[in-house]
Amino acid sequence: MDRRFLEEQLAAGRSLEQIGALVGKDASTVGYWVKKHRLTAAHREKHAPKGGLSRSALEADVERGLSIRSLATAHGVSEATVRHWLRKFGLQTARAARMQASEAAHRSEKEIVEIRCLHHGMAPHILESRGSFRCTKCRAKWVAARRRRVKAILVAEAGGRCQLCGYSRYVGALQFHHLDPTEKAFSLSRGGVTRSLEKARQEAAKCALVCSNCHAELEGGAATLQVDRASSDVAFR
Ligand SMILES: [Zn+2]
Ligand SMILES: [Zn+2]
Repeated sequence: MDRRFLEEQLAAGRSLEQIGALVGKDASTVGYWVKKHRLTAAHREKHAPKGGLSRSALEADVERGLSIRSLATAHGVSEATVRHWLRKFGLQTARAARMQASEAAHRSEKEIVEIRCLHHGMAPHILESRGSFRCTKCRAKWVAARRRRVKAILVAEAGGRCQLCGYSRYVGALQFHHLDPTEKAFSLSRGGVTRSLEKARQEAAKCALVCSNCHAELEGGAATLQVDRASSDVAFR
């Protein structure tokens, strides 16, 4: 077999099988000549089944969480071909595995089950009211992000700075201090912010925005807030 021909085919990324198919020879024969000419099969699919995808390459990509569509693109084949080889090798995409695990979880009637999350690997999933299982780690992340977003909005609407000392450097150090302690329906600084923005807004309206130092002074009686209800102005005394 001609060295130059082989070199060109390998450079084009063709597998031994694909080159073999071009010249009507077995992949092992192509492999023999590659070795003889001291070339290397650059393509990782040198042992790919004829016209198909190799198990090792497919398995690695499935493990990386690729979808059927991305597998098809990555290997330059149709989605139908990918499905065929996945079936043949008994492999499952991450999505299919999740669906199967979640169906099994439904049958088990458990509320918390271990399922592989695309972002967190094996993680506890909780049955949500809409009937699907959700990764608890993803949910915690989402809740924290939402809490930060809502708080940023409320802080901006409240003037963005401590109403006692003007501190504004870090939103995390700004807190909502209830003007009427008997009205402490919920704490804005804690879980309450996950409620609807409108509800949180109503609650924030009954508070003064203060930094954590001033908040401690207020709570300890070292500082007091004077509130002019009519103009909703807050003054330091
Ligand atoms: Zn997750
Ligand atoms: Zn302050």
